[in-house]
Amino acid sequence: MAGRRTKIVATVGPATDDERVLRAVIEAGVDAVRVSLAHGEPSEARARIEGVRRLSAEVGHPVGVLVDLPGPKLRVQSFREGGAWLVEGAPVVLREATPGGSSDEREIAIDAPGVVAHLRAGDRIALGDGGVSVVVGEVGHEVARAAVASGGHLQGRPGIHLPASRISAATPTPDDLRLLGEVIDAGVDAVAVSFVRGADDLARARAACVGAGVLLCAKIETQEAVDSLDEIVEAADVIMVARGDLGVRCRLEDVPHYQKRIIRTGIFYGRPVITATQMLESMVHAPVPTRAEVSDIANAVFDGTSALMLSGETAIGHDPAAAVRTMATVAARAERDFDHTTWSDRLVDEQPTRLARATPTQRITEATSSAAFRAAVDAGAVLIVACTNSGTTARVIARFRPPVPILAVTPSAVTQRQLTLSWGVEAVLGERRATTDEIVWFAVKEAVERGLARSDDVVAVLAGDPIDPQPTTDTLRLVRVR
Ligand code: PEP
Repeated sequence: MAGRRTKIVATVGPATDDERVLRAVIEAGVDAVRVSLAHGEPSEARARIEGVRRLSAEVGHPVGVLVDLPGPKLRVQSFREGGAWLVEGAPVVLREATPGGSSDEREIAIDAPGVVAHLRAGDRIALGDGGVSVVVGEVGHEVARAAVASGGHLQGRPGIHLPASRISAATPTPDDLRLLGEVIDAGVDAVAVSFVRGADDLARARAACVGAGVLLCAKIETQEAVDSLDEIVEAADVIMVARGDLGVRCRLEDVPHYQKRIIRTGIFYGRPVITATQMLESMVHAPVPTRAEVSDIANAVFDGTSALMLSGETAIGHDPAAAVRTMATVAARAERDFDHTTWSDRLVDEQPTRLARATPTQRITEATSSAAFRAAVDAGAVLIVACTNSGTTARVIARFRPPVPILAVTPSAVTQRQLTLSWGVEAVLGERRATTDEIVWFAVKEAVERGLARSDDVVAVLAGDPIDPQPTTDTLRLVRVR
């Protein structure tokens, strides 16, 4: 069983299109990949998903696939190979994209028809992760003249952030739904919805995914989303702290505080939380990270994040597998100092608030899982086994961050891959069983065969009734291995 409990999500892209690189990333222990639909053609995204599926089967390591919808984010046409430096004070023209066109340090082509007409003199426009910005001067019919206010390097197809009043923000966009339709059957386990503003956006995304059996991940990247956090978290299955856009659309100094709040809220509702963006940014080019990046990863682990995400480091970086290995080493070290007791005590204290709004089924699942956590500690269990169809049983126990390993046994390969986003859960496939007794017996057998429990060890097993039409986690057994 892997020692590391915080999961790692790596964004795949041009740098991992070489099969040897992708294999090295999987062998480095990546848990899930993110496939962004904001860059390239859907056919490229499909090829990447299929490549991950094939290589993960070859390596024998399950890897979840999270497809990321672009949302209403505007982007500029690609900078040529190597990108461009925008120098403070230099003039730059903003114009609309043309077929096959590109951007450079003199002209930035915005990929949104009619957008220039919406610009106003004095608008400050951020590019990429917000480090580069330009201020609009004169606005003409098809072009606007601007000056670089804050210089820097841009590459690929960076986002462009216009003042909120200039864009409509409905998500998922018709384009999101079209792109999703082109890749959903390629083997997608979760879908990330960008620029979510409230529960309604997620309801629309869910309606578009009916029958696909995917988890919905809400990317929290605007002030509006932070202000509606509870309703968004309740409506989503997974949460992402999308620090890139968050840092552009909110005050930068608020980002670390929002990160803590989003993680706490996500875990309160039992949703895995992914902390994303610029975690090892310097490793896009450099072989070693900065001290600040190492501290950032460790602090996200202390904050209780379920997963850490790599973006450019793996999608366009010079050594994607090295970035994964570095992240894994730093996270594993930070976990040694994770305060399990304070974490679980707080969750137990918060339980009455949580249960006040729960359905009867949820109350049973919650009560059984918190009892399992407590009982596992009191009985000195070496392992908690969560027997699960949908993954819920594993997710509800994972939120307590138990110090002992969690083994999830599931008959579903999709669930196995979806649990790659859950803190501390190693999921294995097991046959579907007819009764709760059989489920428990085979789960313990599995744990022993994997060397996770030995004779005389105590194992805490969580399970439900396999024929209950309303799946509920209602059984806790403390089993002494014979
Ligand atoms: C972010 O903004 O931090 C993020 C993860 O979204 P994207 O990479 O799609 O900009």
